[in-house]
Amino acid sequence: MLKRNSNITFYVLVGYIFISFAWWVLLLIRINNQSFEEKRDLLRLSFAQKYPDEIFESSAEVRALESERHRKVYMIAGEGTVFLVILIVMTFMMSRSLRREVNLLQQQKNFLLSITHELRSPIASSKIAMQTLLKHRALDQNKFEGLLLNSISDMDRLTMLVENLLLAAKIEDHTFRIGYGACNMSDMVEHVVKKIKDTSGAERKFQLNLSKDVMVLGDRSGLTSVITNLVENAVKYSADGAIVNVTLNEEKDKVVLRIADNGPGIPDHEKKKIFQKFYRIGEEETRRTKGTGLGLYIVEKILTLHMGRVSVKNNVPLGSVFEVELPCMK
Ligand code: ADP
Repeated sequence: MLKRNSNITFYVLVGYIFISFAWWVLLLIRINNQSFEEKRDLLRLSFAQKYPDEIFESSAEVRALESERHRKVYMIAGEGTVFLVILIVMTFMMSRSLRREVNLLQQQKNFLLSITHELRSPIASSKIAMQTLLKHRALDQNKFEGLLLNSISDMDRLTMLVENLLLAAKIEDHTFRIGYGACNMSDMVEHVVKKIKDTSGAERKFQLNLSKDVMVLGDRSGLTSVITNLVENAVKYSADGAIVNVTLNEEKDKVVLRIADNGPGIPDHEKKKIFQKFYRIGEEETRRTKGTGLGLYIVEKILTLHMGRVSVKNNVPLGSVFEVELPCMK
């Protein structure tokens, strides 16, 4: 709505400026022609007293008037073209910055909505779990453990949220320093998947195909955050019971991690945008999945700092495959 209103106002204004500009150019040309005709009539009057009418048209005075008229037309056309080019360039730049501004406002609004939701729901559900435990002290062992496990998973989600926020802030103001150490990616992927499996319930199925002791040189916590964000997304955006495939291999001189899911997939025109900060597909008000739009932004930035990259492709028959490439540790 905000975007549509600003666009309409902007394009109405731009249209008005272009129409007035064209009108002024036509008016100047008309005034120039009129002044030429008037000068010619005056000249004809003074000419008629001295010479015959036939030589008037070919006289030097009339030719001088004609060439003055042409010079002015060229001047109007030349200056008009310069103004038109400036106007077009300015319109293009303004429309681009307006689009960016409106997108940023929309993303900030989405971020506030999503973060409020992200904070409120785990806090509320943990509070309910604590109140239940307090009220029913003699709860049977299974229910007791279930409530505690739910609270732990809520706390994990909050921790992950806070970590992502801190990481994004550090990346943004260039204070994130990567520590370089030998990282065993095979162990790290296995560990992250186990942790997510433990907290995401029995209906989550993972298929791991990890080569042993795949090593990269990098920042352990940064790379853990990359793996966690990608595996969490695969779980979050696919239905209960769907299988998430995780493979890790060394291919030529690269370490390649692939995380494939059978979720809704990502349309081609969104494939680049999802790596922007706060970007989430769809409208915040109608979305059912939780998130802040920071995960993939962090993933891409951390991988770039490691001279690596991330891309997304379509999975067959449905879903998406996120592919991470990192330089092998020599
Ligand atoms: P978040 O998950 O917190 O919204 P991300 O930056 O991790 O933020 O992802 C950005 C958007 O990309 C998500 O909102 C979602 O629309 C889309 N997305 C990410 N991963 C997947 C996936 N595996 N399947 C489908 N859509 C995805």
